[in-house]
Amino acid sequence: MKANHPVVRVLLWCGIFSFLGLWGSGDTVFVKDKDKKSRKIEGKITQETDLLVTILDYEGKSQVFQRSDLIMLTHAKSKIDAYEEKKAAMENTADKHYELAVWCKENKLNFLVQKEYDAALALNPDHEKTRAALGFKKYGDKWLTEDEYMKSQGKVKYKGKWMDKTKASEAGYVEPVTFTFTAVYAGDCTKKDFADLAKRFQQGDEALYNAMEGQLYISKITIKDKTPKGDIIIKNLDSDSIAPGVFGNAAVPYDPNMTWPDYWVKIGGKFMMITFIHEFNHAIAGSPDEADQSCAMGGAFEATTYCEVCWGRLKKKYPHFKHPRPKKDWDQLPELQIEIVDQ
Ligand SMILES: [Zn+2]
Repeated sequence: MKANHPVVRVLLWCGIFSFLGLWGSGDTVFVKDKDKKSRKIEGKITQETDLLVTILDYEGKSQVFQRSDLIMLTHAKSKIDAYEEKKAAMENTADKHYELAVWCKENKLNFLVQKEYDAALALNPDHEKTRAALGFKKYGDKWLTEDEYMKSQGKVKYKGKWMDKTKASEAGYVEPVTFTFTAVYAGDCTKKDFADLAKRFQQGDEALYNAMEGQLYISKITIKDKTPKGDIIIKNLDSDSIAPGVFGNAAVPYDPNMTWPDYWVKIGGKFMMITFIHEFNHAIAGSPDEADQSCAMGGAFEATTYCEVCWGRLKKKYPHFKHPRPKKDWDQLPELQIEIVDQ
């Protein structure tokens, strides 16, 4: 291995600097928390005034503190300073940005890794090491991930394996219907509110997937506070209802001439699973309420499935759906991606 090999250089560089102690933890602030305990944040102080101190931490998050809340502040060269110095001194080539990405990864500056890979690809979209690091392969004249390549070949992933559509269908595969939604709350959400909502939506997605016999799920929900308009409107944070005796509400396109309202469902922040699968059947398939109490559209609290009448309507909407569909044919529920937008 030659000394100019990127890995060797990185190792030498780390070794020398940590030996000399030129940078270790970086700038450090100790702040008083709400419960009066002290908390330590390391990174790079990006702004310091008489009143405020802003520190960029090693996760890439910028945090602002009142100076009066600080117990102690120490200055030291940080990994972010080292990154900036390296960047300022290097040539602007795809190779150099790739090497810097590797360095960031080794130094656990993960928030900068993708940025450097992106910079490398912007300069040279065919930069092989960067493409390989990001999991791309070249097919013909295109760089694709394995999943993209398989999809481009008309294959489907079923139970963890890529296969021909016909073969998969014979084995019990049904192409799932997926949705991405924005869930909004008009007021302010704390971190705990967001965490509670995220957990409940995960349970709701699972209940919906089970009710739809493994053929429909939500792939992504973006939860935003201080926003009045969205697909899922969260009317409150502390109730399973949206008004006394009203658990939820759905925009239902019973009338073909009706224009789609600007939301799908309205629910309470502590909604029950029955409410979730009930309102989403209204919104997705236009199913009306019904008398059958064993069906989720009948509204008995413990109902978790849809009745034959509802399935007739679901199959009208999605003719490729199968029913009844044995559980052994269901694929594992893909993880629901949740994005939090705290405003
Ligand atoms: Zn029903």
